Amino acid sequence: MATDTRTEKITFKDGKIIVPNNIAVPYIEGDGTGPDITKATLKVLNEALKKVYKGERNITYYEVLAGQKAFDKTKSWLPDETVKIIRDYKIAIKGPLATPTGGGIRSLNVALRQVFDLYSCVRPIKYFEGVPTPTKHPEKVDLIIFRENTEDVYSGIEFKSDSKEAKQLSDFLKSLGHEIRVDSGIGIKPISKFGSKRLVRKAIEYAIKNKKPSITLVHKGNIQKFTEGAFCQWGYELAKEEFDSFIVTEEDVNKKYNGKSPEGKILLKDRIADNMFQQLLIRPDEYSVIATTNLNGDYLSDACAAQVGGLGIAPGANIGDEIAIFEATHGTAPKYAGQDKVNPGSMILSGVMMFDYLGWEEASKLIVNAFAKTIKQKKVTYDLERQMTGATLLKTSQFADAIIQNF
Ligand code: NAP
Repeated sequence: MATDTRTEKITFKDGKIIVPNNIAVPYIEGDGTGPDITKATLKVLNEALKKVYKGERNITYYEVLAGQKAFDKTKSWLPDETVKIIRDYKIAIKGPLATPTGGGIRSLNVALRQVFDLYSCVRPIKYFEGVPTPTKHPEKVDLIIFRENTEDVYSGIEFKSDSKEAKQLSDFLKSLGHEIRVDSGIGIKPISKFGSKRLVRKAIEYAIKNKKPSITLVHKGNIQKFTEGAFCQWGYELAKEEFDSFIVTEEDVNKKYNGKSPEGKILLKDRIADNMFQQLLIRPDEYSVIATTNLNGDYLSDACAAQVGGLGIAPGANIGDEIAIFEATHGTAPKYAGQDKVNPGSMILSGVMMFDYLGWEEASKLIVNAFAKTIKQKKVTYDLERQMTGATLLKTSQFADAIIQNF
């Protein structure tokens, strides 16, 4: 990566990010429709910075390789050079990557999260007026989901039915008094105190910084007591140990405060995952920040995104202690590759999350307002146009230009 000598690197001091005015951000273009949405996104992000900071703050984007393009050029799906650069610059923005089939790496997206220990998957979910949705009151949804990103059934410890390892494990389980069917495939679900607490810490810090009214720990602890149940218990423990003056639990509200949360405190509650799915459909406005385990978070994020109009506009970020990767949450939509057709909204709004992370909120606001205005004007890509009446169908690049015109 040939870097611009005027750029400086992001650093951290006492856990706090220090962002120089001129930084370099590596980007991964992505597979399939990735190049189309990446091009549109970087244009919007660049124009927003120019408009707001008039050259005072600037990002130079450098391409790093991953996915098919990387494999074609280097015979590696995720070259060491890419890992080194992202580690060095501490930040990246990426388009979607296809999961290579027939061997090699299991999933590049999962690999990136594991390589950089990006333990929190952050997904804000908010409604933009005018977006067609399947629900009656999408405007009541204003959530941010913190999903644990490194543990749970995603740790990849699985043994095939009838394999030697599955047989060994089932013998071991038998010695512990648990008999399972001999032809079972076996998966392991590790959930640690360390992993749970650091994820809940990130969610609480976010809630405090952004003055959010509540945090909900979502788990399936009624069934999986020592993994899901423990996640919930460790979440409450962490809140008490580190954030006692900011938090009030639902139990305390009922016992000590007559059912009314005291002014200025963040309400900490927990919900069992299956209940949470119906709660979010029926009473979404009672929830704000959600902290949950990996698999629950995976399902919940997509279900909530659908509630406000789908994955085409749902942004996401994978954040660790010092490294963060901002990404489109949908896949590569390969059938539309190279057609300048799909919605770049998810990646553009991931760029907005990146600006927020950098502390450049003025630029975020500009983009979000222009994005909302463009949709209200019914200038949209095919995915939204086909569900609206009287809308103007735009290509990916035209949608980006329409946002810029609305700055
Ligand atoms: P997908 O690429 O998300 O596409 C599924 C459908 O979602 C598309 O056919 C399209 O619907 C709609 N869609 C996706 N992106 C859109 C956009 N930007 N604008 C409008 N509509 C959009 O899911 P997939 O087909 O299951 O996965 C394809 C590849 O992507 C796989 O290799 C998978 O592993 C990978 N993937 C990567 C990521 C990631 O990089 N984070 C995430 C998920 C999947 P219509 O057909 O209705 O138009």
